[in-house]
Amino acid sequence: MYFIDPHVHMISRTTDDYERMTRMGCVAISEPAFWAGYDRGSVESFRDYFRQLTEFEPTRAGWSGIQHFTWLCINAKEAENIELSREVIKMIPEFLDRPNVLGIGEIGLNKNTMNESTIFQEHMELALRFNQLILIHTPHLQDKYKGTHMIVDMLRADSRIQPHRVLVDHVEEHTVRLAKDHGFWCAMTLYPTTKCTPARAADIIERFGDDRIMVNSAGDWGPSNPLAVPDFIQEMRKRGHSEEKIKKVVYDNPIQFFSQSKNFKFKPPQVTYGPA
Ligand SMILES: [Zn+2]
Repeated sequence: MYFIDPHVHMISRTTDDYERMTRMGCVAISEPAFWAGYDRGSVESFRDYFRQLTEFEPTRAGWSGIQHFTWLCINAKEAENIELSREVIKMIPEFLDRPNVLGIGEIGLNKNTMNESTIFQEHMELALRFNQLILIHTPHLQDKYKGTHMIVDMLRADSRIQPHRVLVDHVEEHTVRLAKDHGFWCAMTLYPTTKCTPARAADIIERFGDDRIMVNSAGDWGPSNPLAVPDFIQEMRKRGHSEEKIKKVVYDNPIQFFSQSKNFKFKPPQVTYGPA
């Protein structure tokens, strides 16, 4: 089955990973801007990072026949530095017309601090001003419920925000309804241990339905698996779900959400059957 991984940090992965993803049916990915594992020292580091995301990375993905899309922002961890964040936000419009840029992301909260909230709202302003989609990171473990609540409150307090143009990522059993019930899109991250396993993600689809929801690997430089979406496909098949229902979650839904961006010029694969 063909699939799209809507959240994977491929700059941290090898070309062999792209190859393996292609063989399993991956036709496109979207790569949000994220934390590098260290705090960057200046706005110029971000400018170079955005060049990598919009120039070399789409080329490298293309070697394996994968279409590469991306999102730009300063992540929640580095948003603690208000001054640097504002410089980055001011520079981002230079890149918004690049052909693979889908919007602003992954913005959000990490430790649910005041500074993070301030920069989250300034990113919202940027997205509204340039009519961009928004992709949101929700915090880890014990900070997740409170952080997701804070994020949804900030979005709903602004009447200009259209929920169907916002994706709330890393939802779990206790946060999925916060996103879905207010009309936002949401995504589940399939991690080997934390966040959602493929089985938990399948449970959530069974409980809350398959509308406005997708799954991703969030593969990065930490323990993660860029083939997690195929693992989810297998889990759904084992449970007897139809191919049509599975395809909706791993292929049709990302296309529906991304198609709201004028830069999503997706070329569907030429043959109607996929590998695996
Ligand atoms: Zn991420």
